[in-house]
Amino acid sequence: MASEFSHALVAVALGRTYAEGALSRRFWGLAIFCSIFPDVDVFGYALGIDYGHFWGHRGFTHSLSFALLLSLIVVRCGFPEFVKSSRGWWGLLAYFFLVTASHGFLDAMTDGGLGVAFFAPFDESRYFLPWRPVKVSPIGLPEFLTASGVEVLVSEFQWIWLPVGLLFGLARMYQRLRSR
Ligand SMILES: [Zn+2]
Repeated sequence: MASEFSHALVAVALGRTYAEGALSRRFWGLAIFCSIFPDVDVFGYALGIDYGHFWGHRGFTHSLSFALLLSLIVVRCGFPEFVKSSRGWWGLLAYFFLVTASHGFLDAMTDGGLGVAFFAPFDESRYFLPWRPVKVSPIGLPEFLTASGVEVLVSEFQWIWLPVGLLFGLARMYQRLRSR
């Protein structure tokens, strides 16, 4: 995985770009939830599930199908005031889908572990992106609080935080120019 901080950062940057003005705590809470929820599969280790298994780490919960499923549930339960298939409903669905799917894409840019089962349950092959500059983050807090944890944060700062910050700045500038 990439660290949970980086997953959450992408959710916040996408959210700020997605809608101007104040957004509810519920929105932000669910956005961060969706960005890190795919790593629920690490509990599979404790249950003896193999990394390469359908339910293993970076398996089904990191797939695009799961992102769609989770976003449908989140919009349905978290925003019942939005009428199904209305413009706002589709907008929320697209946002929560992107946030959840972004998790797998960040993981697929890391230099370790197995790839991401993007197309599960239809194809359980594991994929990486052709470009993998991000140092893989160790699983578990004790492992994270070591020299390699610092190395991970430096690499994520360079390859995730800076580019996301830059893209976010550009998007905001574009929005401001357009609204003039
Ligand atoms: Zn992950």
